[in-house]
Amino acid sequence: LCTKSDEVRLAEEASRKYGSPAPTIFSRVIDKSLPADIIYEDEKCLAFRDITPQAPVHFLVIPRIPIPRISEAKDDDAELLGHLLVVAKNVAKKESLHEGYRVVINDGKHGAQSVYHLHIHVLGGRQMTWPPG
Ligand code: C5P
Repeated sequence: LCTKSDEVRLAEEASRKYGSPAPTIFSRVIDKSLPADIIYEDEKCLAFRDITPQAPVHFLVIPRIPIPRISEAKDDDAELLGHLLVVAKNVAKKESLHEGYRVVINDGKHGAQSVYHLHIHVLGGRQMTWPPG
């Protein structure tokens, strides 16, 4: 879907905005050098199944540009951030999560973020509880 020149252009745009964040394992999902169960992709983002699912359905939505974490997103990323949520709910529907689901973004140490490439978790297929751990 995304040609090499698109990838280079996206990387250049991201580097202008964010400097050059350390590449993460998700860069390899994006460039397909690491196999992942990708269930949706478009020019701005992709969705793939979490390798350690915490619910019967657990997928991640990530932007192609490497925004490290939600707290480092720029105000002018609003359209992209909105797009990620729209994709999250559309893929949740495709995954038949008609009884509902949970959407989570972990940020930094207190948020228990482990991969510093922004990602939205979508978890469903079982009853969630509150508060989260
Ligand atoms: O929010 P947090 O940073 O902790 O989430 C990272 C998620 O990425 C984890 O749920 C982990 O299982 C997932 N992951 C993955 N594929 C990888 C590495 C991590 O789905 N290759």
